[in-house]
Amino acid sequence: MFVGGEWIDSADGRTFEVETPAKRGKVVAHVPRSGAADVDRAVRAAAAAFPAWRAVPARERGRALLRIADDVDAKVEELARTLATETGNAIRTQARPEAKNVADVFRYFGGLGGELKGETIPLGENMFSYTRREPFGVVAAIVPWNVPIQIAAWKIAPALVAGNTVVLKPSANAPLAVLELARICEAHLPKGVLNVITGTGEEVGTPLAEHPLVAKISFTGNTETGKAILRLAADRIVPVTLELGGKSPQILFPDAASDSTVDGVIAAMRFARQGQSCTAGSRLFVHKSVYDGFLDRLAAKLATFKVGDPLDERNDMGAIVSAQQFEKVTSYIEDGARQGGARTVIGGPPPTDGPLAEGYYVEPTVFANVQNEWRIAREEIFGPVLVAIPWDDETEAIRMANDTHYGLAAYVWSNDITRALRTAHALNAGWVQVNQGIGQVVGQPYGGFKESGLGRENSLEGMLDGFTQRKSVTINLTP
Ligand code: NAD
Repeated sequence: MFVGGEWIDSADGRTFEVETPAKRGKVVAHVPRSGAADVDRAVRAAAAAFPAWRAVPARERGRALLRIADDVDAKVEELARTLATETGNAIRTQARPEAKNVADVFRYFGGLGGELKGETIPLGENMFSYTRREPFGVVAAIVPWNVPIQIAAWKIAPALVAGNTVVLKPSANAPLAVLELARICEAHLPKGVLNVITGTGEEVGTPLAEHPLVAKISFTGNTETGKAILRLAADRIVPVTLELGGKSPQILFPDAASDSTVDGVIAAMRFARQGQSCTAGSRLFVHKSVYDGFLDRLAAKLATFKVGDPLDERNDMGAIVSAQQFEKVTSYIEDGARQGGARTVIGGPPPTDGPLAEGYYVEPTVFANVQNEWRIAREEIFGPVLVAIPWDDETEAIRMANDTHYGLAAYVWSNDITRALRTAHALNAGWVQVNQGIGQVVGQPYGGFKESGLGRENSLEGMLDGFTQRKSVTINLTP
């Protein structure tokens, strides 16, 4: 782990295994298993580094991030291979683009040092009042495993340019590429400005969220974990940003039932990442008039998907991250297959023999004639499972789309601009895309409505609102 500028083991010497999902039981690394003592050491290192780091001019802090971006560019292949190995995400379609994206994120925030501006407030001729954007201090950043270095970068880069120091906790499923990213950062940051500690949610995440020297928590993960963190933060009134789960709708109007929409729906569902995306458009509402034909074309396209070894450049899709997630996804698929009235359009329970049975592979699965009330339509599966629901009335389609406690993303497919925008505005989601299903682009404020989150990150506004606090200074100028 990386604490106070040193590479260390956990205080009690414990470790845990990191397995590659490409092959059951194949351990690829042993990583320190931290506890509360390690958390304390890391937070103290970050607190000690804070006064000097906040005093570095913001543009100079930004220049450090720009140098990190250049080094990430030079290490894209190493990062991509590590990511593919530990997460199971296919190298060509997922892991390499993620590594490249990390450089973009550091470059974007590296240019924002000059934006940490304040205002002057006209309180009268005899008073001079101005605001400052000040860093919080130690930021606890807790990240999941699905795109580990991308989400780590979304937190490290804005926190650091704003003058905070960071203790980052990666998921126990995917700590390796995050540690490599820390190695890249090490060359450009003073000791203690960035710290990365590894371990489980209970043994590291909880003491980190509770630590009295942590001044801000930025969390990405499951909604239930987010609630637990919010409760811990309430005790100390610590500001929290939460990027949580989703069960995002896609609404398909009949005029857009084209081949390009088939590709767009597949991209929005993040099939190439085994559906392991918070923004996966996993509920597809298709107009009745085009329902059967569209699902046939969708299935035909998904049948061409090559599933297999994430390190093989030919594969479109890799493996589910862990045995635990694999079991969870499988149980949802079995639930869908058992559901009376549902039709399996493609996929189904994972293969039990042949090469795919050697790892945690699940093929793209689509269930048709699903009802919005069913468990497979309500709960976040976080696997390659799409449910398709027919509709014939626009108001009803929007009602069903909004009938969820989540509100992260949504997708509208229509070539009628009035209808598309009317629908986009009616959907309760933090990010609606029309006629595309791409991933987040840095610079776009991103976050969830309802139980999908609190706050916005990934943007100038996200950096200002999420990683600084405003101070007013008011001066008496009476002669
Ligand atoms: P998770 O909540 O289990 O874990 C996320 C992180 O929190 C991990 O580092 C974990 O070790 C830590 N953690 C777990 N329990 C904790 C506790 N009690 N206290 C403190 N920390 C704890 O989530 P996951 O399974 O790693 O990731 C999948 C989830 O993340 C999905 O729900 C997905 O939608 C969500 N996600 C959201 C976004 C977003 O931007 N909104 C992005 C990616 C993933």
